[in-house]
Amino acid sequence: MHKTYQHNNVSDADQTLNSILDIITEGVWDWDCNSQKVTRSPGWYRMLGYPVDAFREDVFTWENIIHADDYANVMQQFENYISGKINKYEVRYRCKKFDGSYLWVTDRGLIVSRNSDGSAARMIGAHQNIHNKILAQTELIEKNKLLHAGTLSLEKIIAEKTDELEKKNQELERKIIEVESISNTDTLTKIANRNFFETELTKEINRADRYRHDLTLVMFDLDKFKKINDKFGHQVGDDILCKISELVSNNIRDVDILARWGGDEFVIIFPELSKEQAHNTCEKLLSIISESKPANDISITCSFGVAQYQNKESIQALFKRVDKQLYISKEQGRNQVCS
Ligand code: GH3
Ligand code: MG
Repeated sequence: MHKTYQHNNVSDADQTLNSILDIITEGVWDWDCNSQKVTRSPGWYRMLGYPVDAFREDVFTWENIIHADDYANVMQQFENYISGKINKYEVRYRCKKFDGSYLWVTDRGLIVSRNSDGSAARMIGAHQNIHNKILAQTELIEKNKLLHAGTLSLEKIIAEKTDELEKKNQELERKIIEVESISNTDTLTKIANRNFFETELTKEINRADRYRHDLTLVMFDLDKFKKINDKFGHQVGDDILCKISELVSNNIRDVDILARWGGDEFVIIFPELSKEQAHNTCEKLLSIISESKPANDISITCSFGVAQYQNKESIQALFKRVDKQLYISKEQGRNQVCS
């Protein structure tokens, strides 16, 4: 032990000790285990708000102010230390203050002398006020809990919003596909329209240039369709246009692109087919159409113009040539393929 003082007489020593006990804020206690007398420092009383020396100097004074929820643990620790089961007495608990509230303290004690049988003869200890520290810790724990709960709910909100957004995106994609399909489809016949056809023709021409494939363009037109309309009505005319679209669609390859050019005029792109091959296909289509009787037992014929794409020619030039072949078909008596 560090020796700060070397007193020559007891009264000097008493003065030093009492001054120290009076000034320190920790509550010091001194228990004579044999007489059961407990001496408490002024700091002990002040810490708990009691008038100094307000209590009887015994252990019951201490036991009576321990919070009921902490009592069992304190006694257990105390007995363990006194009986030598543990070599340190240090325990946290709540002590009742003068105003009825409770104060968190750390209580530490040390056996300073023993009886001849080894039992404790004297024990000195101190109560340290740790109330604000415990409050701060509790507050921190509560805030952490709230923060954790907040983070969790934030994550939940984000997950829900992401889900919502995902659904909206899917809906949007569906609508885009729908709009694209509407803008690419002929409303009456439901096959591709002119707009879609022109885009696809450009793509196919580029592909033909790139891979040096053949590509043939076909244009066909219903023969004397005005008369059909006049005789059977516009609705029957519409049905025929739909039926012919369906027939042709079902009799060309998946890679071929059929579109309604306008009125009773249709176009077909035949990728990788030469003029001769496309011509043969058109002959087949011609006979299928003429044998079909698409509505009300009415016979329909068509005239076809066929032109093979020539290296690097413009779309306009290709159309001019296919248009000419169609014109020749009509001129030569209709119901035929000209290439
Ligand atoms: P040609 O053999 O010379 O082609 O004679 P055509 O009577 O078919 O003459 P043309 O191709 O010039 O006329 C096309 C007709 O197609 C005009 C119109 O009565 C008809 N038509 C155009 N669009 C539609 C449509 O959407 N529905 C119906 N029912 N008829 C249409
Ligand atoms: Mg016509």
